[in-house]
Amino acid sequence: MRAVLRLVSSCLVLGVVSAAHAQIPSPSAFLKLDIGADRVLADYRQIRAYFAELDQRSARVLVQDLGPTTLGEPMIMAVISSEANMAKLPRLRDIAKRLADPRGLTAEEEAALVHEGRAFLLITCNIHSTEIGASQMAMEWAHALATATDPETQRRLDQAVLLLVPSLNPDGQIMETEWYRKWLGSKYEGGRMPWLYHHYVGHDDNRDWFMLTQKESQAMSRAVYHEWFPQVWLDEHQMGSTGPRIFVPPYAEPVDADIHPLIWREVNLMGSQMALRMEQAGMRGIIYGYSFDAYWPGGTKNTAWFKNISGLLTEVASVGLATPLYIEPTELAGGRKGLVEYGAQTNFPNPWPGGWWRLRDIMDYERVASDAIFETCANHREDLLRDIAARARATTARARTGEAFRIPRAQRDWPTALRLAGLLAEHNVELFTDESGDVWVPLAQPYGDFVREMLTTQRYPEVKLVGGTDIVRPYDVAAWSLPLMMGVTAENATMPEHAKRFTAPALVTAPAPAREKSGTRPKPKAATSLPGKSAKSSQGTSGQLQGSLLPPGPESARALNAALKSGGKVTRLFSDKPSEIPSGTAVLDWTATEAAEKALPPGVELKYRESLPKDGQALTAPRVAIYKPWAASMDEGWTRFLLEQYGFQLTTLDNATIQKGGLRARFDAIILPDVSKEVIATGKPKREDGAMTYFVDLPPGYTGGLDKEGAKGLKDFVGAGGTLVAFSSACDYVIEQFNIPVTNALAKVSGNEFGCPGSLLRANVRQGLALTAGLPEEVALFVDKPIAFQTAPPGRETQRWVLATYPEYPDQVLLSGWIKGEDKLTHKAAAVAVKQGEGWIVLLGFRPQNRAQTNGTFPFLFNALYLSTTRH
Ligand SMILES: [Zn+2]
Repeated sequence: MRAVLRLVSSCLVLGVVSAAHAQIPSPSAFLKLDIGADRVLADYRQIRAYFAELDQRSARVLVQDLGPTTLGEPMIMAVISSEANMAKLPRLRDIAKRLADPRGLTAEEEAALVHEGRAFLLITCNIHSTEIGASQMAMEWAHALATATDPETQRRLDQAVLLLVPSLNPDGQIMETEWYRKWLGSKYEGGRMPWLYHHYVGHDDNRDWFMLTQKESQAMSRAVYHEWFPQVWLDEHQMGSTGPRIFVPPYAEPVDADIHPLIWREVNLMGSQMALRMEQAGMRGIIYGYSFDAYWPGGTKNTAWFKNISGLLTEVASVGLATPLYIEPTELAGGRKGLVEYGAQTNFPNPWPGGWWRLRDIMDYERVASDAIFETCANHREDLLRDIAARARATTARARTGEAFRIPRAQRDWPTALRLAGLLAEHNVELFTDESGDVWVPLAQPYGDFVREMLTTQRYPEVKLVGGTDIVRPYDVAAWSLPLMMGVTAENATMPEHAKRFTAPALVTAPAPAREKSGTRPKPKAATSLPGKSAKSSQGTSGQLQGSLLPPGPESARALNAALKSGGKVTRLFSDKPSEIPSGTAVLDWTATEAAEKALPPGVELKYRESLPKDGQALTAPRVAIYKPWAASMDEGWTRFLLEQYGFQLTTLDNATIQKGGLRARFDAIILPDVSKEVIATGKPKREDGAMTYFVDLPPGYTGGLDKEGAKGLKDFVGAGGTLVAFSSACDYVIEQFNIPVTNALAKVSGNEFGCPGSLLRANVRQGLALTAGLPEEVALFVDKPIAFQTAPPGRETQRWVLATYPEYPDQVLLSGWIKGEDKLTHKAAAVAVKQGEGWIVLLGFRPQNRAQTNGTFPFLFNALYLSTTRH
């Protein structure tokens, strides 16, 4: 393979090297590292230093700072093109932008722009930090493009502009290279880390592209949809080690029928060109129509499809980060859609035979594929510019006059509705408003298909590859209806002509705090109630102000937590009867009010009162802890992210800390995120019968589970009055360990009887309880595990409440997505609470905070945390 590649790269350096180019060092020379060699990795700071050098020395390279990452690392994108194009980059960028939104252009004007413009290709590398080859390849490729003197490369550089992002998760690239170097030469070399490679969301950083909760997705999304408007986006990944060597498009089934077919024509053309060039270079094991579908919108290039961009993916077989692997021919396997058994097929004509596989191989495959897509973009420059304009026009034309979504001002949770509007604005969706304050989202706009996809419900296409067989199952989740997930009303309506442009409040992501040190609670300041403080004139009241009422709802949690931190007096009112003051409203004295005012999110309003209700449950700031297993859990990370964003004080607990016991003195609530009972108990995942049971342990100090001592630690915590909250799979652990009158009714249900790969299901919420305050009578729950509860009447020492119930009839269960076996859920509980002595156990058979997308069910979690400090 290396001989083959030497041939490929020698084509690029045959020409006479000019004096200017001669001064541009290769990444290996600049970093004094043998880039691409076994066990050698440049970390992101080195990569950034090398791109800074290219920016300094080459007129073909400009490095843009996209903004800070979650942990404060500068995120970069290199713009690479011919010297002539770089000299007129603002003009070329304006053309790309204009063609992405061609409204108002005449045919002649559009043709002139297509003629003058350049194709913009975005290539993003290394979003998944262990898939590290592309971050190394990016340096070599950029060097080659900056120094090339051969006519073909210069022609490509003149026809196209490359936007190259060497890593979409710099923090994780640094974590992985540090971990790798630490264990180099030991038996743990090339093994996984015991924590997430994105500070909060790990691998799910490529599930965030419609919700934009993380700084990295926000920064990239801004560059793509507000600044650069590329026509093509290739995201380079790596996959498992024992299948094909590389996946390139065409994608596998199914396809979303709402995506413009020109996207698939362009994607297939480029994928085929990549496969051709790799085959010509002697590379084996190239597959298409395999595993990765063209349906779900959560990934980088997937979201882009709905915004008229041709999005592609490559997946190369992995090694042990930079440690070579020897693959026995008998270990090569299919087992995924598009390749059931490993062997030659039309989509896989030249199987790789096995043997050594190295970091250099990954980089070489990626390099040839990257060159090929750049070549295709150069060859089809005018097609790409014309097609993106055609797609934007088709989207705009698809909508009826005035066809829109209306987000009414008068709705149950306006602050969250405003947040949805802010998210759409972040996606560069045009919003309007009218005199009633409603927000209008018209469909006749270039991103109209994206709006439709996000604001309506999904019905997963039941594609079968062979008659009579099972359908092709979803790759990831099957539902992403934002109004359902967020608990917001958005309805089809005709936008009034006089509606004006609306500027939605910006999405704000709080910075990650410095690493937490302990679970001790900061001493609350003495409550300094100031009843004599005079009223704000803006409130139109006179006389003496006593405090305020803070409405329930997920967004209010930010202000409520600020109020609790202030040391002021906070109580909460609950009622099962309709009243002027909704159940779950918080009553704040003046100290608490002042603190809450400083943390009020858009749309949340305090109601100032001269006399406050006297009753209610007294609240203090809950001391919250979350369990973190050594098998890193994305659900743990998402929960941590969410609670930090909403201002909760949070401590992470490992196995040893729970085993030590004494938890009640330090914490009010402990969360078990969605982790399987096997991983919680032993640290090792469950293996199906007959599957490989071999498990590679992490280094000492990072092994094991809670074991008996940990289970006792949790039991003592609840026994002493603590609140234990479990999500989804973790409920099975709690049911097994605690003597409670609850079972998982689906525990013995097989995969053939029940399947729900991440869909939104209807549930009815019991009203009037502290645990359900701020929740409507009907909610959409995000469910992807077979968990539903059957309770029984308990003895006198225990009480239990069913908090939410699935509907009575099977056809009422599914709101959006796909489910099989919904009859198994009818009449079952989705959420229950159990009280034993002074302690509480709250079992949520779903993820109330799934990927920070399900704002509508955040209150299930927040209420449980607030309940943990109220005494009964
Ligand atoms: Zn990946």
